[in-house]
Amino acid sequence: MSESQASKTYEFKAEIKQLLEIITHSIYTNREIFLRELISNASDALDKVRFLQQSGQDVIEPDTELNIAISVDTEKKVITIKDTGIGMTESELVDHIGTIAKSGSADFLKSVTEQQGDASGIIGKFGVGFYSVFMVADKVVLTTRSAQPDAQPMAWISDGLGSFSMEPAQGDIARGTTIEIHLKSSTEEFADVDRIKSIIKTHSSFISFPILVADEKVNTIAALWREPKTSVTKEQYEEFYKFLTYDSNAPMETIHIQVDAPVQFTSLLFVPEHSMDMFGAYNKDYGLDLYVRRVLIQRQAEELLPEYLGFIKGVVDTEDLPLNISRETLQENVVLRKIASTVTKQALNRLKKLAKDDAEKYATFFKAHEKTFKLGYSDYANRDDFAELVRFNSSSMEKSDELVSFEDYVGRMKEGQTEIYYLSGPSRDALELTPHMEIFRKKGIEVLYLFEPIDEFIMDALRKYKDFDLKSAEHVDTAALKDFADAAEDEKPVEELDEKGKTDLDALIGEIRQILGDKVTDVRLSERLSKSPSCLVSPDGDVTSHMQKIMRLVTKDTSVPKKVLEINKDHPLIRNLIRIHQNSPSDPFISTAVEQLYESALLMEGYLSDPHKMVSRINSLLENSSSWYAQMKNLS
Ligand code: ADP
Ligand code: MG
Repeated sequence: MSESQASKTYEFKAEIKQLLEIITHSIYTNREIFLRELISNASDALDKVRFLQQSGQDVIEPDTELNIAISVDTEKKVITIKDTGIGMTESELVDHIGTIAKSGSADFLKSVTEQQGDASGIIGKFGVGFYSVFMVADKVVLTTRSAQPDAQPMAWISDGLGSFSMEPAQGDIARGTTIEIHLKSSTEEFADVDRIKSIIKTHSSFISFPILVADEKVNTIAALWREPKTSVTKEQYEEFYKFLTYDSNAPMETIHIQVDAPVQFTSLLFVPEHSMDMFGAYNKDYGLDLYVRRVLIQRQAEELLPEYLGFIKGVVDTEDLPLNISRETLQENVVLRKIASTVTKQALNRLKKLAKDDAEKYATFFKAHEKTFKLGYSDYANRDDFAELVRFNSSSMEKSDELVSFEDYVGRMKEGQTEIYYLSGPSRDALELTPHMEIFRKKGIEVLYLFEPIDEFIMDALRKYKDFDLKSAEHVDTAALKDFADAAEDEKPVEELDEKGKTDLDALIGEIRQILGDKVTDVRLSERLSKSPSCLVSPDGDVTSHMQKIMRLVTKDTSVPKKVLEINKDHPLIRNLIRIHQNSPSDPFISTAVEQLYESALLMEGYLSDPHKMVSRINSLLENSSSWYAQMKNLS
């Protein structure tokens, strides 16, 4: 060997050092998962070489059997894992396990902190699995030969502290990767054939390549989805689910599909009980693992599932695609599209059945996955199913976590009601207090409460449920609600205004228009208010105020939108203003009160950006009223 080919030492990337620090120094409940991670990598490497061969590319040693062989040296406390997979070239070795920070490592570190340092439960989810070997090893020697013709076999050695070294491998190296694990003295228990076999049975029984331990094949169940449904037990489904997802809980629903026409395929799908999104974001990696005749073609193929069902995990296996299909053409593939549409329908049917049979369990499902599932409003082809499955909170419920379907709502509609009403707001408490709710409460008409921005997109996209229009409570034609009988009696009915009173009211409204000028588009009498003196409403046909806020956030618009100020003529405050105005039209109290009403309404709608003027006005009003109050009480 020439000098330039001698051993080179590399520092691990900073993030990986940090990761290794955590892996080597924390206490683990579950160290044995290192084996699952290395076997999973070996299996991936075997999948890759098989894929190359099937798509007609050149690989060395094409007749080698595809398997994973594990041996244990009980004396030296060394475990060796050898696969005949795709191997790694020198640069792949540097890139994949060493100097380049893995995309998952930052997320992993963040998540470990949240799990209080125990990484074993989440290690596989972030693409940092290889390093888990340092939970048990104080030295790892990895020898690899790439399947690419002419690649130099390499050896990689590390103690998992700060660096690793690499050198060309000596001797006759076969295709694939061999990993020698020198166990730490504290983990010598793993140098035991029976222990190794039992770990494999627990974590790796669904690996589709033979795993040989001391020449005995340990994994025996493969391709569970191909087994007839009647012969698979609940435990087997569960075990396979855990293998597939790393979830420690059982799945909420298991859907096993075996279809012969128009496309032949089998599929095994699971609905997890909890969201798998680690950081609350929408699920970015979703999709089903695609197999063709039991051969893995692609993990998480997005073509097989619409994004809104992305919480579903599972596999699809079909006979109707060529094994050498290129991953690039999956997208336009007609067979895949047919499979996807069948899978989607079956999943929706299962959810509908769940909703019907077990509303409580369905609610659990909905709360876990609603963020993703609500994106389904855009699936035009399955719109009716989506409308049946989506849920909201509503004014007829007692608590904010209770869920209502459109069907429930329709069942409670008033005789003659033709619209389904909804209202957006940040919380149930806020919605209960908005003036827009007053008329609905008075008439006993249910309103769906929307808390998330996406909810309004759903309403806009659906427009109707069955024959009933979906309508924002803000845009209700209050005249249309007049004819419904009052459900709640007014506490003390107010006297109607006589003819003179009406004229005086008109005059007051004229005055208010003058005072507010172009801050509002109009001032008019309200039909919707019973408890509040006034409120702001959007001019007819405008978008809802919630949607307007979203749009303004996007466009960074901070101006105050112009709205209509509605006045409740029966409110004592307005009645007093009528009297004051009639006595002296230019009384300054009127403009003070009107400014205050307007700014209070702005505050309720979330548009009051500078409270100073309002607070000083309130203080002076309080000062006056406290004087009157003291006088009234005859205090000295
Ligand atoms: P992940 O498997 O999620 O990519 P790992 O940390 O487990 O993350 O592995 C890192 C990378 O190292 C793999 O993606 C692969 O490129 C490479 N690798 C690991 N083990 C093997 C192996 N046995 N054969 C070939 N490549 C391997
Ligand atoms: Mg891995």
